[in-house]
Amino acid sequence: MEHQSAVAYGNGYKMGYRGADLSGTGEGLKFDYIIIHETAHEWFGNSITSNDICDMWIHEGFAMYAESVFLECYYGKESSFKYLNGLKKRYR
Ligand SMILES: [Zn+2]
Repeated sequence: MEHQSAVAYGNGYKMGYRGADLSGTGEGLKFDYIIIHETAHEWFGNSITSNDICDMWIHEGFAMYAESVFLECYYGKESSFKYLNGLKKRYR
């Protein structure tokens, strides 16, 4: 979890989120979710953030963007698209 100027790590050094693939595609097991997601919060979140908690999606959106950029850089665009399309099933 991100905190001002520090990140708390609790993923047990597993791939995915605690060993699970949030996307359900297999792509989410290609990286340590917490490292990428929370580092993105530090990178973007400390510079760009919402004024109201109801706009938290902006904060989380940048972290999710970083996850897809990581996959694209290491495994290609198809991996990134597959991951993002898999995640869409989790949201209404
Ligand atoms: Zn987050």
